[in-house]
Amino acid sequence: MLADFVGETGQTADFRQVGYLFLLTTEAERQRFADNMVLQHRLGMQDVHPLTPAQARAMVPGLITDDLAGATFCPSDGLAGPNEVTYGYANAARRLGAVILEDTPLDGFVQSGASVSGIRTRAAEIQAADTVICAGPWSAPVGAMLGKVLPIEPSRRQLFVTDPFDRIRRQSPMTIDFHTSFYFHPEGDGVLFGMSDPATPPGDDVSVDWAFLDRVTAVAERRWPPLLDARVKSAWAGLYENTPDFQPLVGPLQSGLWIAAGFSGHGFMMAPVIGRWLANWMTEGNPSADLAAFAPDRFAAGRLQPERNVV
Ligand SMILES: Cc1cc2nc3c(=O)[nH]c(=O)nc-3n(C[C@H](O)[C@H](O)[C@H](O)COP(=O)(O)OP(=O)(O)OC[C@H]3O[C@@H](n4cnc5c(N)ncnc54)[C@H](O)[C@@H]3O)c2cc1C
Repeated sequence: MLADFVGETGQTADFRQVGYLFLLTTEAERQRFADNMVLQHRLGMQDVHPLTPAQARAMVPGLITDDLAGATFCPSDGLAGPNEVTYGYANAARRLGAVILEDTPLDGFVQSGASVSGIRTRAAEIQAADTVICAGPWSAPVGAMLGKVLPIEPSRRQLFVTDPFDRIRRQSPMTIDFHTSFYFHPEGDGVLFGMSDPATPPGDDVSVDWAFLDRVTAVAERRWPPLLDARVKSAWAGLYENTPDFQPLVGPLQSGLWIAAGFSGHGFMMAPVIGRWLANWMTEGNPSADLAAFAPDRFAAGRLQPERNVV
């Protein structure tokens, strides 16, 4: 969908298919990604393949690979612009008659018997046959307005961007050191890099913790030392929206009410197809794909298929 974004919306997604390179340190990680590749090939992703550590080093000069058990590379993976994609879809929706109200917090839901029949904001009361909770990390308080307990927790993630840096190729892949979650990719003329921080408590604090930069560069020193010669230009913190099994909640919640939230840090890449499936579900009566792993009631029912590859 991103590759055909201009055809669909008339705007660019700034989609660059530089590939995703996963570096795997332990034998267990190598085996897990070998299992993933079997699944990916079965589903038609034929171009994902294993690499030796030496092949990974040839792809990203400066990489330290002597401790690696293996790697995988998928050349059709890539990077797209969140701003471009969001505005591309918003503008296309407006052309089709959609009205988008910005800076308009939800005040509450309108209910008709057991059904949700719309929402209330300070701007208007809006009647709707279908209402979707898609409030990202803030979805739990939105659900609580209807007495629903949605297991979605905000959690801060930080990333850093450097000044122009010529020791990374513009076509260098998104490189992910799976064991530590340290990742980097070209961004403009510089590098964008980050890492997860298991010590971050849940919460909606999005201030930048500059002390964290030292911990990321300590990992970079062992995996991709050239980064230490780059100058960090800016840092940014945003929120992951984690669920207990790191899978989203997608589907009906009650009559007239749906949810698409809790993407656990993977919502940008999943957004186009989730939008398509949800629209299909509303208009055709089925999502056209098996979304049982995302069923909102799976926690109570104990039917979990946890996502194991959270970066
Ligand atoms: C540092 C970082 C890096 C990431 N990298 C990636 C990546 O590489 N790939 C990837 O796929 N994902 C990535 N993500 C995750 C991705 O950004 C999210 O999963 C995605 O944005 C979630 O989309 P969403 O539409 O569910 O929620 P959001 O984009 O958070 O949108 C929720 C919307 O609801 C609105 N809202 C909330 N409460 C209310 C209310 N009460 N009333 C009215 N409106 C309300 C908000 O204003 C917001 O506009 C990253 C996240 C972070 C923080």
